[in-house]
Amino acid sequence: MCGVVGLIGSREASREAFLGLTTLQHRGQDAAGILSYDVDGFHRVKSLGLVESVFTRDNMRTLTGNMAIGHTRYSTIGRGELHDVQPFLLSYPFGLGMVHNGNIVNCAELAHELRTQNRRHLLTQSDTEVVLNLFAESLAQSKESDFFEQICQAVGRIFEKVTGSYSIATLVADHGLVAFRDPLGLRPLVWGRKKGGELASGEAHGVASESVALSFLGYEAFRDVQPGEVVFVDLQGGVHSRVISPASQSATAPRDSSDARHCMFEWIYFASPESIIDGVPVYGARIQLGKNLAKRVRERIEKGEIEADMIVPVPESSRIAAIALSEELGIPYREVLIKNRYIKRTFILDSQDKRESAVSLKLSPVRSEIEGKKILLVDDSIVRGTTSRKIIELVRAAGAAKVTFVSTCPPITHPCFYGIDFPNPNELLASGRTEAEVCQALGADAVVYQDLPGLRRSLDGPQNKNPCTACMDGKYPTDVSCAKKFAESRAEDREQLSGGT
Ligand code: SF4
Repeated sequence: MCGVVGLIGSREASREAFLGLTTLQHRGQDAAGILSYDVDGFHRVKSLGLVESVFTRDNMRTLTGNMAIGHTRYSTIGRGELHDVQPFLLSYPFGLGMVHNGNIVNCAELAHELRTQNRRHLLTQSDTEVVLNLFAESLAQSKESDFFEQICQAVGRIFEKVTGSYSIATLVADHGLVAFRDPLGLRPLVWGRKKGGELASGEAHGVASESVALSFLGYEAFRDVQPGEVVFVDLQGGVHSRVISPASQSATAPRDSSDARHCMFEWIYFASPESIIDGVPVYGARIQLGKNLAKRVRERIEKGEIEADMIVPVPESSRIAAIALSEELGIPYREVLIKNRYIKRTFILDSQDKRESAVSLKLSPVRSEIEGKKILLVDDSIVRGTTSRKIIELVRAAGAAKVTFVSTCPPITHPCFYGIDFPNPNELLASGRTEAEVCQALGADAVVYQDLPGLRRSLDGPQNKNPCTACMDGKYPTDVSCAKKFAESRAEDREQLSGGT
């Protein structure tokens, strides 16, 4: 998972890219970069680390121009090295810069094809470099005279060849800003405009992973880039957009919303609560998740299987659902796990060792409130179980009489190949285990999961009739036949990251 921004016509494009990236920092904390463009060419700053640590007053001064793209990275491919940090840049054709949020499942096959058939030598392990080279290859070979037709042809080619999730922003030198989203819309992307820009239309345009970035920057009238849609804003402010069918590169009417397979994890965990993704507010979805869970918890309380004196959220993303759960059940809500704000999100950390040590550094229990109480601990999900187990230990050590663990997400039993970093089923606590076995493995007195229908109801909206739930039901919306290779290569990367050989 990553965060992307793209801006054109802004008087302060790189400053807006920087501010936009700070609002998307939760989407990736490994690295950040900005690429801008003006008459002197491309200007780029990128490095490992948080957005605030990568950019300084001095290096921001070098990012001149009224077009910019930016990226904040969460590594799901590669070994987190500097050369994998985005934006990526190619000199031919035109001069192309690209940022990408998602994950390309058939990256290794495509990289091989680019090397052997197109004589393109790739310099990194990044899937973004693969997509950028495919895009460049199509543009270079295009016989179309109209530039937007060239773009549609190149994006159509990507749709035909690339399997996985991708929301992409691209700067094209002397032409403008291009943004597109994979045909299933797995990862979010929004587009907006504002007055007072430097384009001939008097406007500036922006795209971003989440609406929080655009509203923070004062962009209005934004909407989601549709699954399979390409948007091109030219240097005069002309807007060209088209939904492209992967089977044909010609224009098509927007398809039925049931074709879209937006990732449910955006609402459960990743996205900022202020954001609205594909028409469904994240905050409202989390309230609904809590309300739906309340029915399941109430049943278990009535059967005498669960006792609870207080509801405690695991900060941060479960807080909203925990409040709704508390309101529905009439059980007091208490924030008695205090977060150290200076430790990175544990789930995002890339090795088991780092995750284990980060949990105890990250949360401090309020012993005076916990001692002797029966606690209903609410978290967004149980993935590997590492953090959940540690938190239950913390709460017990602080004197809790009983601990019930409540997950706003159903059991995660299958790997994700679309940008959330759990490609290996052996790592997933609920894979091959019953609820009772999960409970035992966590050291809890009881476990309550959200159910899949409740999850679907909570995220329901006209544009979100059929979200991706493959990590819960194994029904992958794309071909994943080459995913085993991807999982193996990711396991190797992570072993390297954790210091293995
Ligand atoms: S498999 Fe799960 S985490 Fe991955 S895209 Fe689908 S819903 Fe999201």
